[in-house]
Amino acid sequence: MSCPKRLQVHSRFVGCLCIYARETYNNAMFESFDRPVQCSSGHFFTTIWVPMASAKAIRFGSKRYQHCPVGKHWAMVSPLDEQSSNTEDLERAREVHDLRIP
Ligand SMILES: [Zn+2]
Repeated sequence: MSCPKRLQVHSRFVGCLCIYARETYNNAMFESFDRPVQCSSGHFFTTIWVPMASAKAIRFGSKRYQHCPVGKHWAMVSPLDEQSSNTEDLERAREVHDLRIP
Protein backbone atom coordinates (compact mmCIF):
# COMPACT_ATOMS: atom_id res chain seq x y z
CA MET A 1 0.00 0.00 0.00
CA SER A 2 1.48 3.33 -1.00
CA CYS A 3 0.97 6.77 0.51
CA PRO A 4 -1.27 9.12 -1.41
CA LYS A 5 0.69 11.58 -3.55
CA ARG A 6 -0.60 14.53 -1.52
CA LEU A 7 0.69 13.01 1.76
CA GLN A 8 4.10 12.37 0.18
CA VAL A 9 4.33 16.01 -0.96
CA HIS A 10 3.28 17.23 2.52
CA SER A 11 5.81 14.97 4.23
CA ARG A 12 8.61 16.19 1.98
CA PHE A 13 7.64 19.82 2.60
CA VAL A 14 7.62 19.32 6.40
CA GLY A 15 10.94 17.47 6.17
CA CYS A 16 12.55 20.26 4.16
CA LEU A 17 11.15 22.88 6.53
CA CYS A 18 12.61 21.02 9.53
CA ILE A 19 16.03 20.71 7.88
CA TYR A 20 15.97 24.41 7.00
CA ALA A 21 14.96 25.36 10.57
CA ARG A 22 17.65 23.11 12.04
CA GLU A 23 20.34 24.57 9.81
CA THR A 24 19.17 28.15 10.23
CA TYR A 25 18.50 28.25 13.94
CA ASN A 26 20.92 25.52 15.07
CA ASN A 27 18.18 23.66 16.97
CA ALA A 28 17.50 26.63 19.25
CA MET A 29 13.98 27.24 17.97
CA PHE A 30 12.78 23.81 19.12
CA GLU A 31 14.47 23.73 22.53
CA SER A 32 11.50 25.44 24.17
CA PHE A 33 9.38 22.49 23.04
CA ASP A 34 11.63 19.83 24.59
CA ARG A 35 9.54 17.51 26.75
CA PRO A 36 10.52 14.48 28.86
CA VAL A 37 8.51 11.43 27.81
CA GLN A 38 8.15 7.74 28.58
CA CYS A 39 7.47 5.03 26.02
CA SER A 40 5.09 2.13 26.60
CA SER A 41 8.07 -0.13 27.39
CA GLY A 42 9.20 2.17 30.19
CA HIS A 43 12.09 3.97 28.50
CA PHE A 44 12.67 7.66 29.22
CA PHE A 45 13.89 10.24 26.72
CA THR A 46 13.34 13.84 25.62
CA THR A 47 11.52 14.74 22.44
CA ILE A 48 10.26 17.89 20.76
CA TRP A 49 6.56 18.10 21.60
CA VAL A 50 4.87 20.80 19.53
CA PRO A 51 1.08 20.98 19.88
CA MET A 52 -0.71 20.28 16.58
CA ALA A 53 2.52 19.51 14.72
CA SER A 54 4.55 16.35 14.34
CA ALA A 55 6.59 15.07 11.44
CA LYS A 56 8.09 12.05 13.19
CA ALA A 57 5.04 10.79 15.12
CA ILE A 58 1.41 9.85 14.76
CA ARG A 59 -0.69 11.63 17.36
CA PHE A 60 -3.41 9.90 19.41
CA GLY A 61 -4.83 12.56 21.71
CA SER A 62 -2.33 13.14 24.51
CA LYS A 63 -0.10 10.26 23.32
CA ARG A 64 1.99 9.70 20.23
CA TYR A 65 3.24 6.70 18.32
CA GLN A 66 6.89 7.35 17.54
CA HIS A 67 10.36 5.86 17.52
CA CYS A 68 11.97 5.34 20.93
CA PRO A 69 15.73 6.09 20.72
CA VAL A 70 16.45 4.15 23.93
CA GLY A 71 14.88 0.81 23.01
CA LYS A 72 15.24 1.49 19.27
CA HIS A 73 11.63 0.48 18.63
CA TRP A 74 8.28 2.10 17.77
CA ALA A 75 5.94 2.63 20.72
CA MET A 76 3.23 4.76 22.26
CA VAL A 77 4.83 7.71 24.04
CA SER A 78 3.36 9.82 26.85
CA PRO A 79 4.67 13.12 28.22
CA LEU A 80 5.90 13.13 31.81
CA ASP A 81 4.37 15.62 34.21
CA GLU A 82 7.43 17.58 35.29
CA GLN A 83 5.77 18.65 38.55
CA SER A 84 4.76 15.22 39.80
CA SER A 85 7.27 12.89 38.12
CA ASN A 86 10.17 11.26 39.91
CA THR A 87 13.36 13.37 39.68
CA GLU A 88 15.36 10.29 38.70
CA ASP A 89 12.97 9.60 35.79
CA LEU A 90 13.29 13.19 34.58
CA GLU A 91 17.10 12.96 34.74
CA ARG A 92 17.06 9.74 32.72
CA ALA A 93 14.82 11.44 30.15
CA ARG A 94 17.24 14.38 29.82
CA GLU A 95 20.13 12.02 29.04
CA VAL A 96 18.69 10.96 25.66
CA HIS A 97 17.15 13.25 23.04
CA ASP A 98 15.60 11.86 19.88
CA LEU A 99 15.72 13.54 16.47
CA ARG A 100 15.60 17.32 16.69
CA ILE A 101 12.56 17.70 14.49
CA PRO A 102 8.98 18.13 15.74
ZN1 LIG B 1 11.18 2.44 24.42
